Amino acid sequence: MEVEIENFIPLMKPSKGFSELKKTVIDQGICSGCSNCAAFCERIIINEDGIPELEKDCNLEIGAVKCSTEGTCYDCCPMVSYSKQDLEQDTFGSVREDEDLGFYQKLLAVRSKKKEILERAQDGGAVTAILAAALKSGLIGGAIVANRMDNWKTEAQIARTPEELMSASGTKYTRTPTAMKFGKMIREIRNLALVGTGCQIAGARRAMHSILKDVVEKTKESERPLDLTLIGLFCFENFPYPCISKALEREFGVNLEDIVKTDITKGKFIITKKDGEELSVSVKKFNECVPESCNLCIDFTAEFSDLTAGSIGTETGWSTVIVRSEKGMKLVEKALELGYIETKDEVDVSQIKKNVSLKKKKREATAESRNKEGKYVPEYK
Ligand SMILES: Cc1cc2nc3c(=O)[nH]c(=O)nc-3n(C[C@H](O)[C@H](O)[C@H](O)COP(=O)(O)OP(=O)(O)OC[C@H]3O[C@@H](n4cnc5c(N)ncnc54)[C@H](O)[C@@H]3O)c2cc1C
Repeated sequence: MEVEIENFIPLMKPSKGFSELKKTVIDQGICSGCSNCAAFCERIIINEDGIPELEKDCNLEIGAVKCSTEGTCYDCCPMVSYSKQDLEQDTFGSVREDEDLGFYQKLLAVRSKKKEILERAQDGGAVTAILAAALKSGLIGGAIVANRMDNWKTEAQIARTPEELMSASGTKYTRTPTAMKFGKMIREIRNLALVGTGCQIAGARRAMHSILKDVVEKTKESERPLDLTLIGLFCFENFPYPCISKALEREFGVNLEDIVKTDITKGKFIITKKDGEELSVSVKKFNECVPESCNLCIDFTAEFSDLTAGSIGTETGWSTVIVRSEKGMKLVEKALELGYIETKDEVDVSQIKKNVSLKKKKREATAESRNKEGKYVPEYK
């Protein structure tokens, strides 16, 4: 019997491309500037505020039905709704027992045993020391970190040596597109590491379970899967450079070039000047620079990392480290074996939980007012 065909129905589920990302996230003012959307797309650039823009037409707008395995920019975005539970199961093969800290195996206080690292680091130098040991032992071939340029502008950079890691140590409270660089460098380094805040890490992890899922390194002799490492940082909020640079000069009455270190702790924004003087003001003075994405985020501890480092929870001069995956554990063990770090079990979990709870409250209030205004609120159930 002859069948009359009325329509062709494509069996392929079309990708959601940049226009959907723009409508849902960018135009809604909730882009976190994590830069994952630009990691695998040559057509997206990140502007000075950390926001993605299309440089050339999106593939999907010029006739393609599908972009990569899922939709690349949209599916790597941490500010669209997705299931945290599914991502956690896919990542760790299990789900959390502790609601506040995410899935983890161990909590540690970590300090670098290398004087030259400790002197330059933000806290205990855990991130730099663990990565330096990983580089030395070949566990990683390079790490994407945030380097400080003139006047506290930042740039994502690849560090292939301990010296390059050290020159990028220390916290920069400005959005830095490390995830974008990570996406590009994957083409060169199979065992690459990324340092980033919760949104950067969640986006990169989403990419690992979509576009990167079946990517292999192919040589003449063999095929090997990618071996990527995600190092998270605790993060309450992260500021766009154009706003925070002006606000810092205004509030402290100093030129940015005179600042050698910045820190946010116990509600204070603290700067250290070249001459050693320390000044502090309430962090609330910088509220005008806090992006809406930070107010909506509930991921203080970068829950999808292999390991996360932060300041609170341990005494001054140490870093708190949450070891989540087997890979994270291997990194810590290697750094201990090579004499890069010392560890102890003294972590004040209540301090971390206090910040997680503050962040959740902020999210609830922001979500409530956005819902009233009929604005998009991502859900992570
Ligand atoms: C925006 C931001 C907000 C933070 N807020 C908190 C907080 O509220 N409470 C808390 O306890 N800790 C917070 N941290 C983490 C803390 O400041 C330290 O980074 C952490 O304790 C690790 O210290 P360390 O001495 O082990 O790291 P280091 O050895 O000094 O290494 C730090 C690493 O982080 C990288 N890095 C620095 N800035 C960025 C950035 N913006 N994006 C991506 N990578 C970066 C560096 O390049 C380096 O590789 C925040 C970090 C950031 C970036």
